[in-house]
Amino acid sequence: MLHIFKERVHQQYRTLNYPEVQPGLSDRYLGLPALHPSPCGNCHACLDVCPSGALTLSPEGPILDMGRCLFCGACSRICTEGKITFTHDHHVASFSREGLIVTGSERPATQPQRDLSLFSRSLKLREVSAGGCNACEADTNVLGTLVYDLGRFGIDFVASPRHADGLVVTGPVTENMRQALLDTYEATPEPRLVIAVGTCAISGGIFRGSRECSKGLAELLPVDLFIPGCPPNPWSILDGLLAIKGIQSSQKS
Ligand code: SF4
Repeated sequence: MLHIFKERVHQQYRTLNYPEVQPGLSDRYLGLPALHPSPCGNCHACLDVCPSGALTLSPEGPILDMGRCLFCGACSRICTEGKITFTHDHHVASFSREGLIVTGSERPATQPQRDLSLFSRSLKLREVSAGGCNACEADTNVLGTLVYDLGRFGIDFVASPRHADGLVVTGPVTENMRQALLDTYEATPEPRLVIAVGTCAISGGIFRGSRECSKGLAELLPVDLFIPGCPPNPWSILDGLLAIKGIQSSQKS
C-alpha cells in the first residue's frame, strides 16, 4: 500500500495546464507551414514530390492547402531556396475550408460560421470512423488520458449520436461508410456540430480521386470545424475543440 502512495507522490500532477501552458513538442513535429512570399521561377520540385497535390504555385510564391497536406515534409526538404518550412505551431484548426490555405501572407483567424455559444459549457461528441486508418482516432482517443484530460473542459465522447451535440468524423468517407455516417448525422439532435478531423476527412487525403471515397466531408455534410493533419497532433485537436467553446489558445508553441 505504501508503495502506491510513494509512486503517486513520485508521479506528481501530470495534466498539462493547457492552454495557459503550451506543450513542448518534438523537434521532429511539423506544424503550421510557413511559406516565403516570393516567386519560385521554373522549379516545380515541390509539386512533383508532393504525394497529395497540396501545393500550387502562384506568381507570389507557393500556396499550401493544409486540408490536403500530409505534413510529410518532402516539399520542405526538396526546396533548395527554403521557401517552404514547417513551424512547431500546432494551432492549425480552422472554422472554414479557406482558412486551411496557407500563403506567404499572414494567416487570418477564422470565425465560426454560426453561433456556437450553446456549446460553450458541455460538449458531447460522437466519433465516426468513416473508413480511416485509425491514426486520427488514436490521436483523438489520447485526449482522454491524464496529460490532456479532455473531460475537465466539459468535453466528452459519448457512445450514441442521440446523446451527442455533434460528430467528429475521421477517414475519407468510404462508400461503405457513407450511409452509416449520414444515418448517424440524422440521429444527432439539432443544432449539431460536424468536425472533420484529419486530411482524409477534409479532402479525401491520399485517397482523393478514388471512386470508393468522397473528396471531403463537406461534400456530404455542413462542416463547422476543420482540423488538418495526417494525423493531427492531439494538441491540434484539443485546440480546435476548445475554439468551439470560445477558449482561445493563441499562444504559439
Ligand atoms: S508536407 Fe504537405 S505539401 Fe509538402 S510534400 Fe508533404 S503532403 Fe505535400
